Amino acid sequence: MNRQNSPNQPPSSQASDAAESKGKVLIVDDIPITLRMLSNMLKKRGYQAINAVSGEVALNQVNLELPDVILLDIMMPDMSGYEVCQQLKSNPKTADIPIIFLTAVTDLPEKIQAFQMGGDDYVTKPFYIEEVILRIEHQLTLKRQQKQLNYLNQQLRQSNEELAQFAYVVSHELQSPLQTMIGMIGLISAKSQRFDRKTQKYLNYIAKASDRMHHLISDLLTYSRIEHIDPELELVDCQEILAQVLHNLPGAIAETGAVISLGDPSLNPQSQSTILPKVMGNAVQLEQVFQNLIENAIKFARPNIPPQIQITCQADANGELIFSIHDNGIGIDPANFELIFQVFQRIETVKNYPGTGLGLSICKKIIERHGGKIWVESELGCGSTFYFTLPAASNSS
Ligand code: ADP
Repeated sequence: MNRQNSPNQPPSSQASDAAESKGKVLIVDDIPITLRMLSNMLKKRGYQAINAVSGEVALNQVNLELPDVILLDIMMPDMSGYEVCQQLKSNPKTADIPIIFLTAVTDLPEKIQAFQMGGDDYVTKPFYIEEVILRIEHQLTLKRQQKQLNYLNQQLRQSNEELAQFAYVVSHELQSPLQTMIGMIGLISAKSQRFDRKTQKYLNYIAKASDRMHHLISDLLTYSRIEHIDPELELVDCQEILAQVLHNLPGAIAETGAVISLGDPSLNPQSQSTILPKVMGNAVQLEQVFQNLIENAIKFARPNIPPQIQITCQADANGELIFSIHDNGIGIDPANFELIFQVFQRIETVKNYPGTGLGLSICKKIIERHGGKIWVESELGCGSTFYFTLPAASNSS
């Protein structure tokens, strides 16, 4: 009996057929005496042994019942062990069965070929049965661990999907009652002169808190939407995106005196494009990335030092485009380089620098969904450079 785990049950910590035997071993060898000897010794040690005198018989046998491991002779007439191995490994039903080659040949090229054909291990004839047992046990352990790992991976993927779905539904559902609350607070605040000072102060707190909640929920919704909805990719002109972002931020730019320029004056002008290129991507999402990074570059300025922001784009040796957004702001301690890309992680207080702690995690998710990477280089007090990569239009189309 070949017991199979249902996808919703953890794999057994024992090999299949554990109740009856330590494992089912198919031995394939054209020499009957070797077959008998191996088979007897394995049975004595508690394994179920199945014999096959040729490659063809072995393939038929595997079709009837799947063994846990196969001991496969290389040199056989009609069909060599390599051919049998190739056929088994190219069939998804049998590809995961570990194959240990039995070989009389001790020279290296044969062993290399055994692995190239998809073999998992080999033993050299004449063999010691203890060595054969150890190698079988090793393969069975690996197989069990792999099965458990696959199961845990599947569970993890499922939980992640459920969690993302949950965040999406919650943030979506919270929006409407929150809008009503914000509307009502607005109406009450319009009549605030009727209230005493204390009540006006409390109203102000409520208005601020609901405004923050609105930002949090809308960022959370954006974040879970990226996971939830596949972006439609199109040819996107990053120059136009940048123009749109600058158009979206006139208040922040004017208030801080920020200067935003294209190109890094310290770099060779030949190696950088002053006009941002076109890429295959989702325009709405890429606008979000540029906007979040530029908003941060403006927001995390040092006191009384107007933000100087340089945006560059260079192609690397693989044709991948590397964008950078450099600022002269407060900088980031290298210890926090990874932390800031995680959801709700912030270093500064909301009082000093307002925000939700979701902007960079949104950028990371978008860039990764576009097949790129995002990272930061920075020195505290000296400014930061955020980098992200995107495949060039011709590579990604
Ligand atoms: P938010 O800006 O809403 O706080 P982000 O996810 O965009 O959230 O950023 C996370 C944290 O990373 C910020 O709170 C800040 O501590 C740090 N950070 C991001 N961009 C910069 C920057 N340009 N300069 C300095 N610190 C930054």
